[in-house]
Amino acid sequence: MSSYLIRNAKILGGAPQDVLIADGVIRQIGTDLAAEADIDIDAHGLVLLPGLVDLHTHLRQPGKEEAETVLTGTRAAAMGGYTAVHAMANTSPVADSAAVVEQVRELGRASGYCDVQPVGAVTVGLEGKELAELAGMHASAAGVRVFSDDGKCVDDAALMRKALEYVRTIDGVVAQHAQEPKLTEGAQMNEGTVSAELGLPGWPAVAEEAIIARDVLLAAHTGARLHVCHLSTAGSVEIVRWAKAQGWDVTAEVTPHHLLLTDELVRSGDPVYKVNPPLRTEADVHALRAALADGTIDAVATDHAPHPSADKDCAWAVAAMGMVGLETALSVVQQTMVDTGLLNWEGVADRMSHRPARIGRLAGHGRPISVGEPANLVLFDPAYRGTVNAESFATRSRNTPYRGLELPGRVHATFLRGVATVLAGELAEQADLIEQGDPA
Ligand SMILES: [Zn+2]
Repeated sequence: MSSYLIRNAKILGGAPQDVLIADGVIRQIGTDLAAEADIDIDAHGLVLLPGLVDLHTHLRQPGKEEAETVLTGTRAAAMGGYTAVHAMANTSPVADSAAVVEQVRELGRASGYCDVQPVGAVTVGLEGKELAELAGMHASAAGVRVFSDDGKCVDDAALMRKALEYVRTIDGVVAQHAQEPKLTEGAQMNEGTVSAELGLPGWPAVAEEAIIARDVLLAAHTGARLHVCHLSTAGSVEIVRWAKAQGWDVTAEVTPHHLLLTDELVRSGDPVYKVNPPLRTEADVHALRAALADGTIDAVATDHAPHPSADKDCAWAVAAMGMVGLETALSVVQQTMVDTGLLNWEGVADRMSHRPARIGRLAGHGRPISVGEPANLVLFDPAYRGTVNAESFATRSRNTPYRGLELPGRVHATFLRGVATVLAGELAEQADLIEQGDPA
């Protein structure tokens, strides 16, 4: 396994220091280290962060390999600075059994680019009718602790209560996709002035907020942990803020796209902007940014949702919902949170690594940058300026809303347990990773 001496990196944005990585761990930190390593990295001007952790990634395998595979998705994750991703359960077959979650975990191990923690479905087939084998998935080699029917809402209150009662016994969490189904039948975009002008069926904020309000009460009633996926409205923020003030065990995430984009973009008619939950208003964007800054929202999660072009290059009404996001997340967070003065790099490390790792109970990730810790790290160049080139993405899909936009920053290197999955902005060869890797 190669050793690395990173010279003059700004750890969490602080004063420049040298960091020696050897045998998969951080060996030394200091100024003008006298150490030697196989590879020296000049990190002047670069920020060193803990490897990013995504609570919400759609890797599409098994079943939708034309959109993404675990291999292509984890290559995209490494390029985005991620060292661990949670793979959502809405695959085909659905990850609702020990066999499927173990298969996804094994594909992740074989990829070598990023740790893959499978999420288990809450209900059989995501059908919302009966609980899936939660205990079997937890006891499996995949050790599932995060359960979600994401893409669909667990709208049956009795089932949601049962799921919460179960996860409490294993220190697990239910990650809810909050969407009241009756209030969103046929919905195509945010309900508001733009939907009225375009004549598209609207998706009211209350459809999200009503479920979150119910679920925080159920979390309090059961004493269980609840995680709310992709908050998108100012009202959702207020409910989560209130639930936390009661001392209830509720956490929440926001996507990069909901921190930057609004429903005004839907006027273009381009289905690349069609997403679930929908892009909301400028006021919602500002409420989400403020809530991420003050910690009401715990984490940024990508909701990376790759789709083949046939499902996106079509009429708005029939287009699939979702956007890719792994390779642009940190840049969008820099633009919306760091460059605006809302969050420093320490805050970014907290919201994109420490807290998501804690919510997912991922050992070895989201750790402090200190001697003896596993070397899960990302070296980021915040001074870089460039336009987003979707053709160069590692993901198999191209449905990015940022195509051609200028976004700040670029990942220079990503280390997974001391192995460089990305170096000088380039992906490592898979054969090198497998040779050097020390599987988790
Ligand atoms: Zn979702």
